[in-house]
Amino acid sequence: MIRKLIACFTAVLLSCLSFSPAQAEPDYALEAVEIEQGVWVVEGSTANFSRENGGNIVNTAFIETGEGVVVIDTGPSRRYGEALRRLIEKTTREAITHVLLTHHHPDHVFGNQAFDFDFLYMLEASQELLRRDGEAFADNMYRLVGDWMRGTEIVIPEKLLQPGEWKVGERRLELLELSGHTGADLAIFDETSGVLFAADLVFHDRALTTPQSPGLEVWLADLERLEALPYRWLVPGHGAPGMGDAALQQTRDYLLWLDGALTRAASQGLSMTEAAAMEIPPRFDTLEGRRYELTRTVTHLYPAYEKAVLALLE
Ligand SMILES: [Zn+2]
Repeated sequence: MIRKLIACFTAVLLSCLSFSPAQAEPDYALEAVEIEQGVWVVEGSTANFSRENGGNIVNTAFIETGEGVVVIDTGPSRRYGEALRRLIEKTTREAITHVLLTHHHPDHVFGNQAFDFDFLYMLEASQELLRRDGEAFADNMYRLVGDWMRGTEIVIPEKLLQPGEWKVGERRLELLELSGHTGADLAIFDETSGVLFAADLVFHDRALTTPQSPGLEVWLADLERLEALPYRWLVPGHGAPGMGDAALQQTRDYLLWLDGALTRAASQGLSMTEAAAMEIPPRFDTLEGRRYELTRTVTHLYPAYEKAVLALLE
């Protein structure tokens, strides 16, 4: 009996010693969902960057080609990139051969360190933007998500992507060079599975981040190109993937409203503060972060709308 008690006490003590929540390493607990054969999506939350989510607000993905795995985006930190690489290695027996980065925003490229440098690819214009903005993005991310970023450094790919058809293994991919979200945005259509990776040109139940958009009309034109593709699945940059075009239509609806509302506000002479406070129609109630993003949109894009109104008057 006494021996049993001692054994029990020792077991409790050992389990206390081996488990110390205060020192636990933060864990993204990534999960891959296979939406079509050989096509996996790793879905992030629709929240803002925070110390709770470690910046995991983004969708990443990977595709088996029969001759290696193509990864799409690497996530917000070195830690995320490493977790993603382990998840891919656990999920498929093929080796990673290509990592395509859809654009230069930190939540899409700050996991680059976890992957072989020679496998990292992006558009030339995205590479230039990452060179320009990378340090500022990193400062911001360290401030917003803290310890999750430990050890994260900016890795700028050297391999450049050309838009167009790309046959890789058993897959035919179409790479589209677009620009509505940042000035340089890559969308990837997997013709073989019918899955469209729309990057941040499409958000789903999440308000759009527009600060680096060259103009909402450019973004709307990009959506037309995406809509013309015969896709069955759409994987947005943020928010739930889905079959059909619900996410694309929601994004277009919001962009059209935004463009019209900003034009009206400017022609009525509203100040920036007034424009940021305007009513958001109830049909957008499902868009997470809508007030926060509208304020950011107004800060960055409203001056151009004011200028356009002035030019009309002159
Ligand atoms: Zn983005």
